[in-house]
Amino acid sequence: MSDGIHSRYEPQAIEARRQAAWRERNAFRTPPLIDDQPHLYIKPSAPFTSGNIHIGHVRSYSIGDAYARFRRARGEAVLFAFGFDAFGLPAELGAIAGGEPPSDWVERCATHMTGQLERLGFSFDWERSFLSSDAVMYRWSQWLFLILLDAGLIYRGTGNVDWCEHCETTLASIQVEPGGTCWRCHGPVRLIELPQWYLRISAYLEENDRRLEELAAGGVWDEVALGSQQIVLGRLDGVELELGAPDGSALTVFTPYPEALGEARFVLMSARHPDADEWASDAAVSEQLDQLRTGGWERSSREAETIPVIDTGRVVLGPDGATLPVLLSPLVDSRFGPTVVFGIPTSDRTDEVIARRLGLDVPEVADSAADAHAYEQDDDAPADRRAPVPGSRPAVRYRAFDFTISRQRSWGTPIPVVYCESCGTVPVPREQLPVLLPLDIRPTGTGNPLAELEEFVQTTCPSCGGPARRETDTLDCHFDALWLWVPACVPPEAREDSLEEILALPDLRHWLPSERLVAGSDSGNFVFDQRIVTKALRDIGPLAFLADGEPFAGCLFHEMVVSDGRKMSKHLGNVVDPDELIDQYGADTVRLAVLYAARPQRSLNWSDSAVLRCHRFLAQVWEYSHRKIAEAGADPARAVEAVGSTGGTEQTRDTSEHLRLKLSQWCAAAVEKTTEDMENLEMHTAVRNVMRLFDRIKDFEKRVIARDGELSRANRDALLEALTLLAQMLGPLAPHLAEELWLAFGNDEHGAQMPWPVVSLRVPA
Ligand SMILES: [Zn+2]
Ligand SMILES: [Zn+2]
Repeated sequence: MSDGIHSRYEPQAIEARRQAAWRERNAFRTPPLIDDQPHLYIKPSAPFTSGNIHIGHVRSYSIGDAYARFRRARGEAVLFAFGFDAFGLPAELGAIAGGEPPSDWVERCATHMTGQLERLGFSFDWERSFLSSDAVMYRWSQWLFLILLDAGLIYRGTGNVDWCEHCETTLASIQVEPGGTCWRCHGPVRLIELPQWYLRISAYLEENDRRLEELAAGGVWDEVALGSQQIVLGRLDGVELELGAPDGSALTVFTPYPEALGEARFVLMSARHPDADEWASDAAVSEQLDQLRTGGWERSSREAETIPVIDTGRVVLGPDGATLPVLLSPLVDSRFGPTVVFGIPTSDRTDEVIARRLGLDVPEVADSAADAHAYEQDDDAPADRRAPVPGSRPAVRYRAFDFTISRQRSWGTPIPVVYCESCGTVPVPREQLPVLLPLDIRPTGTGNPLAELEEFVQTTCPSCGGPARRETDTLDCHFDALWLWVPACVPPEAREDSLEEILALPDLRHWLPSERLVAGSDSGNFVFDQRIVTKALRDIGPLAFLADGEPFAGCLFHEMVVSDGRKMSKHLGNVVDPDELIDQYGADTVRLAVLYAARPQRSLNWSDSAVLRCHRFLAQVWEYSHRKIAEAGADPARAVEAVGSTGGTEQTRDTSEHLRLKLSQWCAAAVEKTTEDMENLEMHTAVRNVMRLFDRIKDFEKRVIARDGELSRANRDALLEALTLLAQMLGPLAPHLAEELWLAFGNDEHGAQMPWPVVSLRVPA
């Protein structure tokens, strides 16, 4: 086993052997439910079926997989499975480019990407993987839609969408070119108003906020993930006051600058405020408001200089009796949510710009008091640093708000609603799900092919049996993501069961909440909304067992992989192709390099030196270990015996007991530190600790030989033991090489999987 054949590091051969062995023994199948066995569900991100696994995916899954393997090695039952986020624009655009139906495109991509992931040796339970675009899966979205609609958490509203007249289609914001033109025909894009389905996340903003403290206290949400939740929430602390108007009406007005209330010059109301129409009752003002709602302001919503501001012609009385004009503007929303705020030019740069635009009297301001980001509240500035203004009370506003979940596109989950002439809007009964998406649609970029498919559109009303038309908007794939963390918990044999049966499975109670989500730092919005929907499903009933309404007990957000400090893109020619790297260096090297190169919370600036360093390291570990095994004899167990029979003479030469003690201390320290690193998903330091241990093992040998001229039996045993321990610690980091070494050290493949080493600081007898 340890002769010349295996002593050269040949990663391709090693990795093929290990992957075949893992497949054969179904090594990563989710273990059966045993309540008293420690168990955890690690949730990786669900990639879009975009075509290829890129190096960012490799980073993400290398972290998650190392963690999964580490926890398995400690004897815990691990659920680690994933699915593809297969609906939505990336797949639709890919299909358009390839001239094929999106369902074919998605199948092809998923097969290819699965092959890439298998080649990297990720330990997913493949039996549980899925495509969100399979009917058995997207019925989850339809079921969720109906249940949230029923609970009043989905509603019909009116929203602005980008529309290309030439292509007769709505555009996603990424399809609008920087100059405000269409990605496809480069024609002008208009904002038009369309009826949309909205998700009422506002119902749970306060609870999401409240839980943040608990998540932080739990210590298993890393700082990037927690920070993202705060950013999405956009909490602002301040005060609010009831202001009266001369005509007897009243308005609740908020400000994050209570100490500057005396400087207020106007109040600014969001066009989405529930009372906006009432305050804009004057015919001319109402017309302006309509125009504002359908106008082109969203494109430049950050420029205070150009966004429409409407003077309603009405006033309220400020706290000191001054009359404050009531203005309407979308400038409120992005800063404070759909509310009403005081305009305080001395405290807020945007307010200062508005005041000047309106020709209001603006007091002279020191620059520092009115910087461009004054509304981004300074944590160090307590809201109550001055005596509270009479009548004011502490108040909170959130920038997060309800958003649209419907899209005028064909590659998505059909919305289970029909429109009947006599009954109106009728939800499709749950037992009739799924509403199937026709698979022969071919989006071209113009129109909505689903709306043009009469056999889809024409249906009968589930309520009266009369003719009805189906909703032809589909759900945004963001909506699918709201539940994508659940189905991995469903055993494959139960996947086709009714959702009621699935939700009653003990498996969900066993695995949820997920112990850790490992995802990119751009997942903040997804996670925020998943946290909201979990709370809704807790209150409605199906997830009542998740008392705190949190889908993830822990969360790690990693940063992107960049090149020369820039995002990788084909255009810049700086894309790193994982397949090429694997061809050249093997999967273990690529995985180790992405873990080694940077802390997960930092951008990984790609350089080949990390790959070269890790490859050299693995090759040395491989070759050195095999050399030592060979020196100990073809069979290490026999070798120990053989050396033992001639022990007498060796014992006399062994004056290196203190070095053995040193080695055992180094090993113990390495295990202790690496264990802690792995527990905290700090794989970059784990790799460094393992590398350092390897240097120390070689150093031990050098020092012993310098002293004794050769290795005694005890020293050789100690050396092999240390190398075995090194292989064990490499198990989660470079799993193919590690397991082959573990076997080469005489351990049994059919035994349990390679265990994580336990610290034992042995003092020689
Ligand atoms: Zn166009
Ligand atoms: Zn009807």
